[in-house]
Amino acid sequence: MKSQIKKIENYIPEEPIESVKERLGLKKLVRLSANENPFGTSPKVKEAILKWNFGEENRYPDGYASDLRNKIADFIGVIPEKLVFGVGLDEIITMISRIFLETGDEVILSKPTFSEYALHAQIEGAKVIEVPCLSENGHYDFEGFLKQITNKTKVIWVCNPNNPTGTYEEVSTLKAFFDQVPDNVLILLDEAYIHYVTKNNSTSFLPELDNYKNVMLLRTFSKAYGLANYRVGYAVMNENLANYMQAVRLPYNLNSLAQVAAIAALADQDFINNSVEKTRIERDNWEHFFKESKIKYYSSQANFVFFNFPAANKLADELLRNGYQIRRGLLKDWLRVTIGSEEDGVKLRSIISKNK
Ligand SMILES: *Cc1c(COP(=O)(O)O)cnc(C)c1O
Repeated sequence: MKSQIKKIENYIPEEPIESVKERLGLKKLVRLSANENPFGTSPKVKEAILKWNFGEENRYPDGYASDLRNKIADFIGVIPEKLVFGVGLDEIITMISRIFLETGDEVILSKPTFSEYALHAQIEGAKVIEVPCLSENGHYDFEGFLKQITNKTKVIWVCNPNNPTGTYEEVSTLKAFFDQVPDNVLILLDEAYIHYVTKNNSTSFLPELDNYKNVMLLRTFSKAYGLANYRVGYAVMNENLANYMQAVRLPYNLNSLAQVAAIAALADQDFINNSVEKTRIERDNWEHFFKESKIKYYSSQANFVFFNFPAANKLADELLRNGYQIRRGLLKDWLRVTIGSEEDGVKLRSIISKNK
């Protein structure tokens, strides 16, 4: 066994909703701990799945996901050869770490950020260097990142908007940082929550991608598109890097139903726009509440908010007893709540007020 595996703490996945309900004797449980789309999935997805040709069950799926590939390429305006698909972004993160990292390499990331980046770096024997976010506003400390770059640095992870802080970095800020990173360092830009950014019209780094040969952009269907159960994510990069990724990727990673679901979800942009608009309104309600209640939080452009609460575990337990599961354990005294319906928001905020 690789010696580093023995030091790894297992990722604890979300407990199935039914099992939490049974364990706690709850009639209803609203899961707001995993940033899934609480407004569900486009009904067009189920329609498309039911139309699938079940005569193909014994055949391997299209290993190149050609139809989905062409539709996404067309939608985001890149050539199809720039796309690499994964069983969720989780698989892309695994693949990237496997391809680019060896023992002794260094990886730089923000603290706190999505935990999978560090996990897979550790599995490959790389050293993880954490740069704390700016405590006043939760933003990336890009100056701090630059100071950590050495000749061992192989990979830099930037999550935008960042999970769990929710903070969004402007494209101009990213460019100013990327311009100072040496070309031989790979920058991974995770845009899992980019659909939820509403402050500007142009929010993605995508139009700049061709100018940065060492940047890879990551997207998923698990969040705004409401397809977490189908496991579809993709990365956009120059064709040269894409060829290396394709060589390592498992040949039939996306099953046909996942491909069909993603095609149908992509075609229903009204569903996305509607989910984003409801989220934006509720996000404003949450931020207004935190301001009024003098609870420290980071201004979010994602579908969740991160807030400081000294008795965090006690509050999370109390919310659970009331049928609401939110995320704890990401940073001491901080909690992350996925933005759901206004009705649930009103109840959650009243419980938080009572427990202050
Ligand atoms: C949820 C999440 C992912 C993983 O998404 P999947 O496509 O479901 O594997 C990746 N990055 C970030 C920042 C996330 O929050």
